[in-house]
Amino acid sequence: MSFGSATSAALFDRASGVIPGGVNSPVRAFQAVGGTPRFMASANGYELVDADGNRYVDLVCSWGPMILGHAHPAVVDAVTRAAQSGLSFGAPTAAEIELAEEIMRRVEPVEQIRLVNSGTEATMSAVRLARGFTGRPKVIKFAGCYHGHVDALLADAGSGVATLGLPTSPGVTGAQAADTIVLPYNDLDAVAAAFSAHDGEIACVITEAAAGNMGAVAPIDGFNAGLRRLCTAHGALLIMDEVMTGFRVSSAGWFGLDGVAGDLYTFGKVMSGGLPAAAFGGRREVMGRLAPAGPVYQAGTLSGNPVAVAAGLATLRAAGDDVYAALDRNAKQLGDLLGEALTQAGVAHQVQFAGNMVSVFFSETPVTDYARAKTAQTWRFAPFFHALLDRGVYAPPSAFEAWFVSAALDDNAFSRIADALPAAARAAAAAAPPQQNPRQH
Ligand SMILES: *Cc1c(COP(=O)(O)O)cnc(C)c1O
Repeated sequence: MSFGSATSAALFDRASGVIPGGVNSPVRAFQAVGGTPRFMASANGYELVDADGNRYVDLVCSWGPMILGHAHPAVVDAVTRAAQSGLSFGAPTAAEIELAEEIMRRVEPVEQIRLVNSGTEATMSAVRLARGFTGRPKVIKFAGCYHGHVDALLADAGSGVATLGLPTSPGVTGAQAADTIVLPYNDLDAVAAAFSAHDGEIACVITEAAAGNMGAVAPIDGFNAGLRRLCTAHGALLIMDEVMTGFRVSSAGWFGLDGVAGDLYTFGKVMSGGLPAAAFGGRREVMGRLAPAGPVYQAGTLSGNPVAVAAGLATLRAAGDDVYAALDRNAKQLGDLLGEALTQAGVAHQVQFAGNMVSVFFSETPVTDYARAKTAQTWRFAPFFHALLDRGVYAPPSAFEAWFVSAALDDNAFSRIADALPAAARAAAAAAPPQQNPRQH
């Protein structure tokens, strides 16, 4: 049942006065789909409740972290107990060791780990460390891969940058971007050519272990292994950004699926269970260059925050084989339902998976890189999205984002999704491409 969105609209209006664009992270603003972003009041299990009292089956899961569903009792309990023991000490705690050990137990190539506060900080620090370790300046990244809003890594990034159609961002200077080489995803020849053209200058290749920020685009067979080979051959470090895939697509993240070892890893999202914490880690020899053990500086007032660490540890401890089996099953069921509804409505589409991350592209052919993601009929997405939202299904408000399932989705949730999809698929089928405004030519 829909109660309208008057309260969300009033809150958005008020928020827009005090917060740029009314939101604290761009994709939340619904700019790509139009309409009023829903202000959330509470969440439990698979369900979100907004400020007007509307209930939604959540297929965003806070952009990934909530694999167990919302307000999982074990996590809430751990957070409550941690908070009652003090919110922050600015001194080390035993729980930080336990979280580091839990991550290292799952992802074998990680031999040491440093906790930070966001995925952005993790990638920024990993790149600095790679440059410090190798003494080289250049970084290879892939178009459509998002590694947070780090200056040097915003070039051709996916996620909100793709949603808003920005090539990069004002405020990033030429100098900050000059050492970034942007290449097409899934194109090993381009990587080999860049290594030949810049021999001895490339500190690292950073890649999403499987791309999720241009929509779910898995690495083609041999791509990650090829990156590993090229990096080793040229003395560069391979940074596997598993902020999105880590501890979601398997107990060991994407590494658990393809076994290709990075020199450095970045984690966030799932590993902190919905609170702000993230991490980077990797080979002991490389991590040992970090201050205070080594000369590469990195620090954080709230890094290893006890409440965030408690949330992460409780989430990972609750995420056993049963949870990963449920995530895989739920992703497949969601993908099947999406495919059936869109086929029935006669819309050309690709339902793509990267592990248990799912995306819908309105495209005749599979999407393997950012150029192809951008040529999809993204104008079909807004009516599709709004028809789902009106029927109580909360999908990501952008054609360039992965959909995230939780283990909390049950038969009731799936029947709500199945009930909403046919009308949404018809809305996508009925969508017309935007009219070109001749005066803009
Ligand atoms: C979300 C994300 C980041 C950035 O993490 P924040 O916590 O939002 O700063 C970096 N890399 C990838 C692959 C991500 O999905």
